[in-house]
Amino acid sequence: MPELPDASSLPARLTPRDFDHWNDLVTASDDGGDREVVAPYTGDAFCTAPESTPDDVATAVADADAAQSRWADRGFDARTDVLERFHDLVLDRREELLDLMQLETGKARGDAYEEVMDVAMTSRYYATRVADQLASERRRAALPLLSTARVHYDPVGVVGIVAPWNYPLTLAVGDALPALLAGNSVVLKPAEETPYTALATVALLREAGLPHDAFQVVTGDGATLGDPLIERVDYVSFTGSTAVGRKIAAKAGEELVDCSLELGGKNPVYVRPDVDVDTAVDRAIGACYTNAGQLCISAERLYVHEDVYDEFSRRFVDAVAALEPGAEYAYGVPVGSLISDSQLERVETHVADARDRGATVETGGEALPDVGPYFYAPTVLTDLPDDATAACEETFGPVVGMEPVSSDAEAVRKANDTDYGLHACILSGDVDVARAIARDIDAGTISINDGYVTSWAAHDAPMGGMKDSGLGRRHGEDGVVRFTEKKAISTSKTLPFDPVTGPTDLEAKVLAAGLKLWRHVPFLR
Ligand code: NAD
Repeated sequence: MPELPDASSLPARLTPRDFDHWNDLVTASDDGGDREVVAPYTGDAFCTAPESTPDDVATAVADADAAQSRWADRGFDARTDVLERFHDLVLDRREELLDLMQLETGKARGDAYEEVMDVAMTSRYYATRVADQLASERRRAALPLLSTARVHYDPVGVVGIVAPWNYPLTLAVGDALPALLAGNSVVLKPAEETPYTALATVALLREAGLPHDAFQVVTGDGATLGDPLIERVDYVSFTGSTAVGRKIAAKAGEELVDCSLELGGKNPVYVRPDVDVDTAVDRAIGACYTNAGQLCISAERLYVHEDVYDEFSRRFVDAVAALEPGAEYAYGVPVGSLISDSQLERVETHVADARDRGATVETGGEALPDVGPYFYAPTVLTDLPDDATAACEETFGPVVGMEPVSSDAEAVRKANDTDYGLHACILSGDVDVARAIARDIDAGTISINDGYVTSWAAHDAPMGGMKDSGLGRRHGEDGVVRFTEKKAISTSKTLPFDPVTGPTDLEAKVLAAGLKLWRHVPFLR
């Protein structure tokens, strides 16, 4: 039996009964045992969560599969109603959700608030757009007048979602919303560290009217539950590290199951010489230190044009040094905790390696145990050699390498000198020039004059990674069409020749002449 938290270990708006209720939403037999869930602000395990087994995954997928066609048969209007109610519930219950996200991740409240906003906006976006995006549509037929062709977007069936811990609300449910609207059911495997944010969200979806079995949750070890999930579902939506993404892709390939992979990044910011330096410093801080740097699209490389390098770097380092991390269930704290001791160790290892290779720590460069066991000071490194771990591998922490560049071309070359291609940010006083530079950067998403929010919140635009940062796109039409099987139905009215004997001499000549002519008739091309 999972161990419920003690009321004294919980933030004000959460009770042990909430956790009891959420535990009931997990598909887990007693065989799997329990797993401790740690509060990063204290480093203490505050409860245990049920651990699903591979057999539980089979049960969850079978139940989701049984529920899928009934859910699909409800039609767009009924499914949209559920999402609109969910939209309101997420906003109404935001303070409880924020408490829970902070409890499980140790993030700052403002960072958690972004997730609430994002999930509400994603719900609204797809609720208002999906009927158009998935409406069956006429396509050009083989032979005009003689045949017709239509495309229909059928749900794939059961969508398996594997989510990371860093944005436990957004990344557990953000992809599930379009999947559900398309008529699929969902089986979610949230990260080991953050099962309850996912479960609380599923509780809200059920309160909004989602049928019980249409959204299943299995909790526990990804390496144990991943393969049984991929073997059974009809589509896999994965968000997490590139290393695990490769394993998911290999297994999905073996099973011939389609998948999308939203993976890691090593994202650059380029500060052009024409910036207003104060504004650029603020935007760069947002780009680099949001969620203590544990954000797939946050920046870890800062290229500053030499014409403004001295002024920008001085003010940037001063502003970063002035950021005060805190462990508070209150708005206004700029930087929260890292998620775990292993994440802290990763950050410490990267900074130690940078120091050993001659980098200068301009500010930060140390853990902050007085604030909390996993806190790390926002850090700026200069003189960082290209082969340092912090220069080429994703740190996923509040650590940024800063260096001057002499031209736009050098900035682009350096920005592209990475195995990743998730996100980039350009800060410039000339938006047209920035847009032209953006076209040369190999990244799936590029933000101009903003750290990342403007891009992420553009829910109508596709978002995803090039190179080792992933496959496929979320958001926009791509973000929902991926959860469908496109079915093309073509109808013949008559044929231009006998289907058994093929064309006669004359028919063959007429057809060939017709095809030649066709190429020159603009409205038929
Ligand atoms: P992770 O890859 O370790 O884990 C992600 C999920 O995969 C977890 O639920 C985990 O249990 C599961 N998992 C682990 N091994 C598995 C396996 N063999 N088979 C199936 N599932 C398995 O990532 P993380 O540490 O939780 O998250 C941080 C990483 O996620 C960073 O690299 C970050 O850049 C990336 N990320 C990417 C995006 C994006 O949109 N591109 C968003 C957020 C995070």
